[in-house]
Amino acid sequence: MLVRVASAACLLLSANAFAQNDGLISEESAATARELMERGLDSDIGYEVVRSLTTEVGPRLAGSEQEARARDWAVQMFTELGFENVRVEPFDMPYWNRGEIDLRIVEPFPQNLFATALGGSAATPQNGLEREIAFFDSFEDLRDAPDDGSLQDHIVYVNDRMISVQTGAGYGPANRKRQFAWLEAEARGAAGVIIRSVGTDSHRFPHTGMMSTPSARSVSVGSHSQIVIDYLESEHPDYETSNVRSSIPAVAVSAPDADQIERIHALGETLTVELSAVAGWRGVRQSGNVIAEIPGRELPDEIVLIGAHLDSWDEATGAVDDGAGVGIVTGAAQLIGQLPRAPRRTIRVVLFGAEEVGLLGAFAYARQNASDVGNIILASESDFGAGPVWSLTSGTSDEGTLFLDEVQSIIAPLGIIRGDRANNGGGPDIIPLAMQGVPVFRLTQDGTDYFDLHHTPDDTFDKIDPDDFAQNVAAWAAVVWLAADSDVEFRMQDE
Ligand SMILES: [Zn+2]
Repeated sequence: MLVRVASAACLLLSANAFAQNDGLISEESAATARELMERGLDSDIGYEVVRSLTTEVGPRLAGSEQEARARDWAVQMFTELGFENVRVEPFDMPYWNRGEIDLRIVEPFPQNLFATALGGSAATPQNGLEREIAFFDSFEDLRDAPDDGSLQDHIVYVNDRMISVQTGAGYGPANRKRQFAWLEAEARGAAGVIIRSVGTDSHRFPHTGMMSTPSARSVSVGSHSQIVIDYLESEHPDYETSNVRSSIPAVAVSAPDADQIERIHALGETLTVELSAVAGWRGVRQSGNVIAEIPGRELPDEIVLIGAHLDSWDEATGAVDDGAGVGIVTGAAQLIGQLPRAPRRTIRVVLFGAEEVGLLGAFAYARQNASDVGNIILASESDFGAGPVWSLTSGTSDEGTLFLDEVQSIIAPLGIIRGDRANNGGGPDIIPLAMQGVPVFRLTQDGTDYFDLHHTPDDTFDKIDPDDFAQNVAAWAAVVWLAADSDVEFRMQDE
């Protein structure tokens, strides 16, 4: 990446020679965007923000004491960087934690396996479970299996693999087993469920992640609860959905351990495993969203909202998920805040709490700021690691689309193409806002390697490439500046 970023910096200078002033972007605003890009490629402030968060706070499980420390850290960080209107908006949430886990093969070839509990998993009985494995090649095989009592007293194992692609499109299909295997196993009387990790690495790190369990619908209707309710309505219409939680343990094994199970199964052997886990729900705790602003100079009530999530899974320091996003949006906004002249509109940075456990911070934000959602003229989140941005996608009015076409021509020297113009994806925590008609854009990152690290103990600061990171900051600074310094109507009419 070093070579490409260096050549991008040279291109920025030559691009100035071809600046046009007959479009929706003024020459002055475009010149500032180019200056921000150059500064972004040189600045290490965002990168240092990630270093500080991952070092001085560390893991940040939603609802934990560590996540509360992250909020204090964020308030201090924003204040020191000169942001205004820094505040925390707390909300209550159901708290789940992991605890210790042990998984071993008892028969036919005794040995230990590397496993972790999935978010929402129940504990095993105190002395653990020893059961035969019922092996399924895919989630669909389990979903379509007859309920004939054959899974009673077994531990279900689901093997399907995730495919690695730039867009991360392999995640959705592979993630079905993480979301719903517990439900299909439990409905057939199984005692537990084990899945091959949803990931693309071949290291001995299991990948955690939330099962789709509506943890407490009265507290917060997050996306996971809606996903499971939709799934139940289509697959199990007579299921009681008032408060669905897993009553069985659900764990993921690392890819090499999954390969081991697969090889033993292929020998025609019946596996027996022993599983012991203490995971479970532990009452209601507090989380919160941390907010900071750069007030607009002409249209302060109009808001360009950029976000990332502050929580992480507990097993690593959450560097690529989503410390990187925190550093990218903060670093970009900080560069804009350093300019001699503020943009016309306000830039609001939101660091969402409790994303991993069901977008609880995102839904809390939309609920607590319901009267203000109409003032958000454009929104996006950085939550796909620290790989280089390669595409600008958007879902806005026709005028907004033309404007973002011009924006892309300005950021093209960073190696960014114009992607889908009818895409309502702004990032996971933007979903509740997009559902209410808030226009979105996304700076799509190369996610080829993202799911090697995602939700594993290996998601640590050393994995972030400083040059790729700087390219992100440069792109975000330019796009956010241009949108905030415009008076373009991004919102679609008749909404
Ligand atoms: Zn994330």
